[in-house]
Amino acid sequence: MIDTRHFNTWIEVSESAYAANLRFFRRLIGPGVELSAVVKSNAYGHGMEEIAGLAVRHGVDSFCVHTLDEALRLRRAGFDQDVLIMGHVPLSRLAEAVAEDFRMVLYNRQSARRLAELAADRDLPVRAHLKIETGTYRQGIDEQEVDWFVDFLGRHRSVAVEGTYTHFANIEDTTEHGYARRQLERFERVIERLRNAGFGVPKPHTACSAATLLFPETYFGMVRLGLSQYGLWPSKETLLSFRMARSPGDVSGDESADLQPVLTWKTRISQLKRVPSGSYVGYGCSYQTTRESRIAVLPIGYADGYDRRLSSQAWVLVRGRRSPVRGRVCMNLIMVDVTDVPEVKLEDEVVLLGASADGEQHVTADQLAGLVGTINYEIVARLSTDLPRIVVA
Ligand SMILES: *Cc1c(COP(=O)(O)O)cnc(C)c1O
Repeated sequence: MIDTRHFNTWIEVSESAYAANLRFFRRLIGPGVELSAVVKSNAYGHGMEEIAGLAVRHGVDSFCVHTLDEALRLRRAGFDQDVLIMGHVPLSRLAEAVAEDFRMVLYNRQSARRLAELAADRDLPVRAHLKIETGTYRQGIDEQEVDWFVDFLGRHRSVAVEGTYTHFANIEDTTEHGYARRQLERFERVIERLRNAGFGVPKPHTACSAATLLFPETYFGMVRLGLSQYGLWPSKETLLSFRMARSPGDVSGDESADLQPVLTWKTRISQLKRVPSGSYVGYGCSYQTTRESRIAVLPIGYADGYDRRLSSQAWVLVRGRRSPVRGRVCMNLIMVDVTDVPEVKLEDEVVLLGASADGEQHVTADQLAGLVGTINYEIVARLSTDLPRIVVA
């Protein structure tokens, strides 16, 4: 058991919440679909090694990452599951990826040629996942380019088409899913072409969290589950669409009923002070007290991932009470008002993001995202990698 009294700040990762989310998704997708956990960007700020450990323990089949270095990090931590590298691997480093037998995204001719060269020198085929452009206009093979890949891969069978996939552009931000349906139709046309050309394509996949929550027809052989494994909804629209599909006419219900946030970010009070009425707190004298106040100094700031735009906007939980942030968020410190918190003392635990110990009060990633004009994804993904991650029950 790690003694958190030794930490100024740390992140707790809840195993029971994570396990509950995975149970929910396994029920949703059924036993026959591969559940791949997207653990890029330090598992969306949750800690890659910590999450990967829980993922394997609670029934995830494989991983998806963005970079070769993330994939290698999983291997170094002892994970021998399949790993799909979804981002570009520099041509000069493709050999490293092939040596580890990673699943490789393929959408560049140059990468395909280099992989074919590397595959020629080994017994096992390279495992390629063709990324198809269906309307996101990010990474992907254009419809006119599919023929080139069919021809090339037909001649280089050592680069095996294990998977083919695409990514939706407009599935989170709307309750109108016509665009996503058209992307899916284009994708199915390409799969058809590949199969007609003699590629088995054992594993097509398209589903991110929102698609997994809303559309079973997007699952095919595998889902790429990112944000929602961590207990967060991709958007209000996704939550609403999910509820409408489940019980038309009744979209009420508790947001936390299906998904449980896994992450709690904590710190400890590093100083307490009395501040006279009319005093300015912090850089820029942007906040002035309107009464004699008790101010607590907390040893975290924007360098840790506490957004500076939360200055005088957000609140933290001290002894289960909402305590407002006063003045500017500094690089390594923030000040909060604890005037109304009885018996507050030095090194009291403070919740920056997550629920109070009694579960009555919350600071959610969605709330913080709303305050700074972004999405919950960014709030968690930007939590500093330096923060210790601790798995708790
Ligand atoms: C990040 C990512 C995902 C996961 O998306 P979520 O909305 O977090 O589930 C899936 N597929 C691709 C290609 C991605 O880049």
